[in-house]
Amino acid sequence: MRPKTFAVPVDHVVIGGGAPVIVQSMTNTDTADVEGTAQQVKALARAGSELVRITVNTEEAARAVPRIRDRLRAQGVNVPLVGDFHFNGHKLLTGHPECAEALSKYRINPGNVGRGSKRDRQFATMIEVACKYQRPVRIGVNWGSLDQELLTRLMDENSRSEAPVDASEVVHRAMITSALDSAARAVELGLAKQQIVLSCKMSGVQDLIGVYRRLSAACDYPLHLGLTEAGMGSKGIVASTAALAVLLQEGIGDTIRISLTPDPGGDRTREVIVAQEILQTMGLRSFTPMVIACPGCGRTTSTFFQELAQQIQDHIRHQMPEWKRRYDGVEEMTVAVMGCVVNGPGESKHANIGISLPGTGERPVAPVYEDGAKTVTLKGDAIARDFQALVEAYVDRTFCRRKD
Ligand code: SF4
Repeated sequence: MRPKTFAVPVDHVVIGGGAPVIVQSMTNTDTADVEGTAQQVKALARAGSELVRITVNTEEAARAVPRIRDRLRAQGVNVPLVGDFHFNGHKLLTGHPECAEALSKYRINPGNVGRGSKRDRQFATMIEVACKYQRPVRIGVNWGSLDQELLTRLMDENSRSEAPVDASEVVHRAMITSALDSAARAVELGLAKQQIVLSCKMSGVQDLIGVYRRLSAACDYPLHLGLTEAGMGSKGIVASTAALAVLLQEGIGDTIRISLTPDPGGDRTREVIVAQEILQTMGLRSFTPMVIACPGCGRTTSTFFQELAQQIQDHIRHQMPEWKRRYDGVEEMTVAVMGCVVNGPGESKHANIGISLPGTGERPVAPVYEDGAKTVTLKGDAIARDFQALVEAYVDRTFCRRKD
């Protein structure tokens, strides 16, 4: 059961309040590069990102924000843009009101808003801008930039206490205190509770789970989940999934981002796909038809089976924007691509549509199953193309056409 959190509207998207878990992403372009950033935001939105965060770190970046927003809107892309501010956010938000207005939400890191007396004043300035433009704020604590004054104070108190805890426990307490105290301060300054989202990102899986459990128990604010600095490739995916799955299963988390380091020249949209796949495989949301494929084994000695599974997966991803526009419920379809007769017919019968390919030494025929019944047997060199056509026909026949 998902704990009831405040519902925080961000344009047409709602975070919390029992709404489906929202997928977010972040660009890695120079925000001052209007064209490059708009292109990447568009790609992330097209991949399914429901909010896109962009860094706003310089005067040039702040000036570029409204132009990026306008360029996207001209192309029919209305994804809410979130501005990521550190160190100089108070100056950029007040010095560039058109940037403050163009953003749909601000992310403020309480560890990076200034030191000493400046800290409170600069934090207040950003919250006042959020109040003025009625923009929600994510108070995003990160253990890589944790408020050092707060941490030092808690460490000192701990060392003087009769029962001191270990240093990692103090760090966890400091993360949660930083988020909750900053939220309380924002409310004192006039920001509505329904305009606040919290996050406490850490890079260790057990640290993240422990902190979010406590944060969730301590407040009603919607929580943004993410393992910070998750890493590259399978390590980043596995670590993020391990941490987020535990929390999501406990009903903790209203929006997620997967912080993958892309391979050089890699596709930034991967983080969106991974986030969607976590939510979909957990049965929390449906985004795109799922391809169920067996791992293959000694019964599939050719690469044909892997190639078909890949082609079908790619075809579905490619078709999905158009299918989504035309067909209701298509994202819940399952397609099975199986390597041989051992589990092939059984798994294919469980899917909406499935194919059981011939394993090594089997007769070169591939039975196709639709809604649990065998409908046709494919053979010859065009099995991949023929199966794609059958999937297309199945979609058109099975899912209701949306009214334009
Ligand atoms: S379905 Fe056949 S090919 Fe696939 S893993 Fe099982 S035995 Fe191997």
